[in-house]
Amino acid sequence: DESTSEQLVELAKRRGYFFQSSGAYGGVGGFYTFGPQGASLKGNVEDAWRDRFAVAEGNMEIDAPTIMPEPVFEASGHLDGFDDMLIECPECETSSRADHLVEDNTEYEDAESLPIPEVEEIIAEYELACPECGAGLADVAVENFNLMFATNIGPGDSDPGYLRPETAQGIFVEFPRLKEYARNQLPFGVTQIGRAYRNEISPRRSIIRTREFTQAELEYFVDPEEDEPDLESVADVEVTLYPASEQNKDDGDEIETTIGDAVEEGVISSPWVAYFLGVAKPWYESVGVDMDRFRFRQHLSGERAHYASDCWDAEGEIDGNWIELAGFAYRGDYDLSKHAEHSGDRFTVFKQYDEPKTVERATVDPDMSYLGPEFGGAAQDVVEELESLAGRDRTAFEGDTVAIDLDGETHELPVEKTGFSVDEETIAGEHIVPHVVEPSFGVDRLVYTVLHHAYREDEVDGEERTYLDLEPEVAPTFVGVFPLQNDAELEAQANEVVADLRAEGLSVTYDDSGNIGRRYRRQDEVGTPFCVTVDYETVEDEETTVTVRERDTTDQKRLPVEGLAETLAEIREG
Ligand code: ATP
Repeated sequence: DESTSEQLVELAKRRGYFFQSSGAYGGVGGFYTFGPQGASLKGNVEDAWRDRFAVAEGNMEIDAPTIMPEPVFEASGHLDGFDDMLIECPECETSSRADHLVEDNTEYEDAESLPIPEVEEIIAEYELACPECGAGLADVAVENFNLMFATNIGPGDSDPGYLRPETAQGIFVEFPRLKEYARNQLPFGVTQIGRAYRNEISPRRSIIRTREFTQAELEYFVDPEEDEPDLESVADVEVTLYPASEQNKDDGDEIETTIGDAVEEGVISSPWVAYFLGVAKPWYESVGVDMDRFRFRQHLSGERAHYASDCWDAEGEIDGNWIELAGFAYRGDYDLSKHAEHSGDRFTVFKQYDEPKTVERATVDPDMSYLGPEFGGAAQDVVEELESLAGRDRTAFEGDTVAIDLDGETHELPVEKTGFSVDEETIAGEHIVPHVVEPSFGVDRLVYTVLHHAYREDEVDGEERTYLDLEPEVAPTFVGVFPLQNDAELEAQANEVVADLRAEGLSVTYDDSGNIGRRYRRQDEVGTPFCVTVDYETVEDEETTVTVRERDTTDQKRLPVEGLAETLAEIREG
């Protein structure tokens, strides 16, 4: 149903969900503005994410800058390796992503993980052409293109900065301070909802691939040796999984299982990743993703970032294509170790032992004076050799020698002569580098999926109708209130109802333009769950009642105004 997306994009523009930005200047690819309805829906989705992944999990939320200095991205590896494959048409100069070109036109499903020469070969073999002008691309070179947006911090160009390509780095670089807020206790989690920027080669599918987008990320720091997730709480969650092993088969298929079984059978290897998949699935359902069009797909080994030991994506189906909605990765100690190495700061947590431990510490005469001047250059080798002996029973060194290469000759030096000693020491704990589990959600793609999965067409009173079956929790407007006709008395009464509902914290739209049928259609199209109409009965009858119409069934009921706000608020809460 290719047309659902087309219709959705048209509806989104007409009704104020989202539209291409800077239209007055011709628009620019990959930048979208969320209109009044879209901003509200997106805000509601973000609030729902915050409730589940920050508040309910007891995690901390931070709000870091979107511009960060160059050393951050040297450490994170983004300046070196955050590239996509670019191919530029020699005729019309349109840039395309070479891997997408291959995936869209051949049977290769994961061209992103192939080396460039192989992608070039495939392009030549299949005689792939420029999607814009049709010129052949067989002889065109594929290049790496870095997706980082660069800027300068302050006047001049001596302080380069970059717009962050993910919110995560804003959490990692602040780890030395954040761990203090967590009182140095693992495990703890830090979340952030904010903008990320990637200079995508070819933004496409409206808000699914843009150059500025919103992420909601959680970095969960654990002690890899001690901490375990509460798997029991998610063991019964039913999931559709598409493991890497199935993707490699001709008849490979998704499997239906539970989180508990998937861990037990080793389908998901990291219990932490499994835990967050188990939390995410019901959450996606609660914001309105259709669970028949939702799955978790494991990354193939070539697709995985080199530091990630197990990685799964949440995917939603749109017009027959699976779209990545979120990534769940076990990142090990990669990020914190890199920042420790580049910054020199402490990206560790002090782990106190239950009881102090006695350990042996090896020490070596640091200036190697006992070796004599001819061994000076080999001092470092000697230290390394001796350190490799540390931890052994010190009485065992008697008669041991270390081998030292000098001028192509190997000298055997008795250990006793090196001043090497091993002493006992009592220590209370040690500094460890926590491991990181990262659920990383894209908000814009989720908003798109929620709208797409909510898009409905039916017939009401012989007329075609379009409506959005949005969950009350995220719908931008919860109630539309209409006076039946332009009549001062009805309008005054309707305004009173509006005030009551707003006082209950509900988002309300007042509409008195056009006939009542048109007003219902408008609210149906933005997905408003309820409409309340004030008519002559309302103002004439002894008991003040209104007509309440439900969006999906279009059923209408007469309800007293008294208590209406509370009743609707309860429905919204679920
Ligand atoms: P893709 O392969 O689609 O480019 P990715 O694997 O690079 O995405 P991650 O780095 O894992 O994406 O980012 C986490 C999430 O951020 C993604 O699951 C997605 O929802 C969202 N995201 C990434 N790039 C974009 C983009 N250009 N536009 C909108 N959302 C995006």
